[in-house]
Amino acid sequence: MTSRQQSPEDLFASQEAFPSGNPPREERCRVLLPLPVEEPYDYLAPLDPNGLAMGLVPGALVEVPVGPRKLTGVVWFEKTRTGKGEAYALSRLRSVLSVRDVPPLTEELMKTIEWVADYTLAPLGAVLKMALSVPAAFAPEKGLQQLRLSDAFDSSVKLTDARRKVVSVLQKGGGWSPGDLAREAGVSPSVVKGLEKTAVLTRYEEQSEPAFPLPDLSMTGPTLSPDQDSAARSIVAALDEEGFRPILLDGVTGSGKTEVYFEAMFRAFEKQKQVLVLLPEIALSAQWLGRFKSRFGVEPAQWHSDLTPSQRRKTWRAVASGRAPVVIGARSALFLPFPDLGLIVVDEEHESSFKQEDGVHYHGRDMAVVRAKEAGIAIVMASATPALETITNAQNGRYEHLVLPGRHGGAGLPDVGLVDLRVDKPPREGRAAAFLSPTLREAVRQTLDAGEQAMLFLNRRGYAPLTLCRTCGHRFQCPHCATWLVEHRQWGRLQCHHCGYQVARPETCPSCEAEDTLVPCGPGVERIAEEAALLFPESRLALMTSDSLTSPAMTRTMVERVQSGDVNLLIGTQVVAKGYHFPDLTLVGVVDADLGLFGGDPRAAERTFQLMHQVAGRAGRAEKKGRVLLQTHDPDQAVMQALASGDRDRFLAEEADNRSRGGLPPYGRMVALIVSGADPQALDDFCLKLRRKAPEGQDYRVLGPVPAPIAMLRGKHRRRFLLQARRSVPVQGLVRQWLDLEKIPSSIRVTVDVDPYSFF
Ligand code: ADP
Ligand code: ZN
Repeated sequence: MTSRQQSPEDLFASQEAFPSGNPPREERCRVLLPLPVEEPYDYLAPLDPNGLAMGLVPGALVEVPVGPRKLTGVVWFEKTRTGKGEAYALSRLRSVLSVRDVPPLTEELMKTIEWVADYTLAPLGAVLKMALSVPAAFAPEKGLQQLRLSDAFDSSVKLTDARRKVVSVLQKGGGWSPGDLAREAGVSPSVVKGLEKTAVLTRYEEQSEPAFPLPDLSMTGPTLSPDQDSAARSIVAALDEEGFRPILLDGVTGSGKTEVYFEAMFRAFEKQKQVLVLLPEIALSAQWLGRFKSRFGVEPAQWHSDLTPSQRRKTWRAVASGRAPVVIGARSALFLPFPDLGLIVVDEEHESSFKQEDGVHYHGRDMAVVRAKEAGIAIVMASATPALETITNAQNGRYEHLVLPGRHGGAGLPDVGLVDLRVDKPPREGRAAAFLSPTLREAVRQTLDAGEQAMLFLNRRGYAPLTLCRTCGHRFQCPHCATWLVEHRQWGRLQCHHCGYQVARPETCPSCEAEDTLVPCGPGVERIAEEAALLFPESRLALMTSDSLTSPAMTRTMVERVQSGDVNLLIGTQVVAKGYHFPDLTLVGVVDADLGLFGGDPRAAERTFQLMHQVAGRAGRAEKKGRVLLQTHDPDQAVMQALASGDRDRFLAEEADNRSRGGLPPYGRMVALIVSGADPQALDDFCLKLRRKAPEGQDYRVLGPVPAPIAMLRGKHRRRFLLQARRSVPVQGLVRQWLDLEKIPSSIRVTVDVDPYSFF
């Protein structure tokens, strides 16, 4: 099929438009469009005098007419999936308009796309859309005009509101085309034009064919310890053997997993192969980028949702033409059109944020394994707390298992203590509720007195998760969702974390009109910060949450403030749990370790273990010994005991046992169906019909319909079905057949989630 081309120049060969005049003959070709369609459509492909469809190798990007529009699709395999539609007569087909100026997609990527569609039950075209996510990249824009903030820009200068909006977009960094800039800032193009006449903006030309610099292979990493060295050698050997090699790199935080896979990346660069590194959160990337740069001397290409349109275009094109040797990205980077991928790294592979929960419901780690398999390359999955799925694959030999036993340099793992909140009760000061126990307060005080840093962790944004009226009991609920509104005191607002609805916090109760009667219930991080500020008035306290760190630049600034010691008491949500290295942080206090254990998630205990372990891993990363205190109402439960004893493998064994007895993943399969609609009666009627057609068999069962835990979301009522099956059951086929039996009314939506990770 598509051959691996040698150089970028070859990749762009065969891209000329068709010669003018009538093509000699035509034949049918199949073009898959980036639309929610299950199948490629037939088009006419002009033939050259030798009878070959010109430029139309499978994978070629072509522009075709779709109704009144023109769209870019991909010439698909000849035989693929059983077509449902009848074949149209040649005379009724429309012609391909042109071949786009981009190298064809590789067979490997096309097969991955088919695999993902089959597995997730998503329309094939919807999966392709993820690979063709930057239509602006399909045409060369020679000498693209770009605007950036000029070096002479003085931020104290007075600007109109509209101009200020433009400047704040530019302050994110990067170059912008004038049109993109106006759109992003929400101003008219004339505002941008006007600014161009001032000293605020600089105009420059983007180089015509974007490229990212090659890693500097003359630089060397640290001398690896014997354990690290042997792990690195195993991965390099896997790379050299060429072929699909899935590897679990399993080591505590700080054991040097990153240094080890850097060596593997080095080898891939030597072989002039492209490398993809998937990270769970963009928040992590600032620190990761710094480490990459000090190891390889250059900045890698990045792929995440915060890129400007011209950065996206540049990166997509550079990847496609083989001019991006390495991409670090969020899960969607998986669908980039690498022509010559040689290695994939999935760091923090256990993170559930690799699972995409809208559009195509796919798991980034699992589909990365699929891509590695189709490409015939090595994939390294790194974690201190591997997912049970991954550990199981390692234990049964499907994945190679490399273990780094200790922290680098002999730094010890932190001591983990449990604080029993039933006896070690947070003392109330007057009427104000308190959430920090005497033990935790004392530990924070000692840490700060010793000149070290402490962190308080609570995985809940805002001030309080619920507000109620003390007089009449009124609770503030979202008008569009079956959820409580979360108070954000810093903005004086009540907010729905599901749909974004918000109102100002009223002075009087909207129900009984009593004044000064609203009380917050339960803590969010802002409330913990308030308590800590009262208890430790001399501390230098900072909040780290997704509300306070809204850009990579702000995150970087905050990380620097913590690293420089400017902050000594850090209070945060899960954004602080991720991979940061704060050498003077010696105490981590978890305000509510039980928080993730509620709800119907079969992975709740595993996730709590992973999150607590990761948070705990922030403590004592350098010479000083770290200490962790977990506040819990039930210190006897298995997950708390495992955290206190540090016996991960025993916990995993017990967890494996529980899950295999319950037929839960990874020992059984699950598919969730979320059925939603605005009219609850119509929804329930439809769900009953669906229930009656539900497949029945020995090896599987269908549960539901039941109201989803969040029974209304954005004005739509929600019901859930769950198909639970033995591993051997081909669940996709069952669900496909089931849904084919019952026509879905246009007012109702059925979302299929294979291997669900969220249960709301
Ligand atoms: P992990 O990815 O397992 O959390 P890292 O690779 O981030 O571990 O290593 C933790 C810290 O120890 C980093 O600052 C890293 O540079 C350092 N480190 C790891 N291995 C070595 C080594 N062999 N020599 C020097 N420093 C090392
Ligand atoms: Zn809402």
